[in-house]
Amino acid sequence: MQDVHARIAAAAAKVSRDPQEITLLAVSKTFDAIAVMAAIETGQRDFGENYLQEALDKIEEVRRLQNSGNGAQAVLKWHFIGPIQSNKTRPLAENFDWVHAIDREKIAFRLSEQRPAGLPPLDVCIQVNISGEASKSGVAPAELSALAHAIAGMPRLRLRGLMAIPEAAADTAAQRAPFRALRGLYDTLRAEGLPLDTLSIGMSADLEAAIAEGATIVRIGSAIFGQRTDGSPHATA
Ligand SMILES: *Cc1c(COP(=O)(O)O)cnc(C)c1O
Repeated sequence: MQDVHARIAAAAAKVSRDPQEITLLAVSKTFDAIAVMAAIETGQRDFGENYLQEALDKIEEVRRLQNSGNGAQAVLKWHFIGPIQSNKTRPLAENFDWVHAIDREKIAFRLSEQRPAGLPPLDVCIQVNISGEASKSGVAPAELSALAHAIAGMPRLRLRGLMAIPEAAADTAAQRAPFRALRGLYDTLRAEGLPLDTLSIGMSADLEAAIAEGATIVRIGSAIFGQRTDGSPHATA
């Protein structure tokens, strides 16, 4: 965990950014509640999950451990970063603080309808298919503006920004290109009047490139928790 904080600080310093404006999202998928509790002990508060049932079980278990006094009583933020099935939106709306990978209006509409009245609006990002690969999720750049304006008008959602998972690239220069393209789309939406403040980009292998291009949330799994050993897919899942 300290290594990752040091990488973020170094990457921010290199481009004269304040590391405080970059949130470290600890991606705890495939790791258990005990691993989450250990991260909480170090001050970590934001956790990212990809698989709904695993996430719901873990959120409940962490809450139980916190309530039993077995660790910090910290207020946590749970982020759903995986692909979203339209018949699974209700548990997302009820149990998460953030949803990162919205790529169609129908999903957003359901999340807004299902967000409980007692909770604040759900913070959301739109996933953009920035590398243009046919097999990957995310809205096409040409369709982004219409989707963003539609979501911005939904009462129980707060559109915070954009998220992307570019295809892997060998060196920092190649990693930066798709992030820069995403940043351009983000700037355009802001110029259109949308009050966005979030770029959810950067993982263990490319967080430096993402920070150089303006990341405000980096989603880091293996560099914090170690390699995932259960054969679960890499970030492109
Ligand atoms: C798994 C995952 C991550 C973290 O990937 P690492 O390479 O382990 O840091 C980030 N974002 C998404 C969407 C993921 O699925």
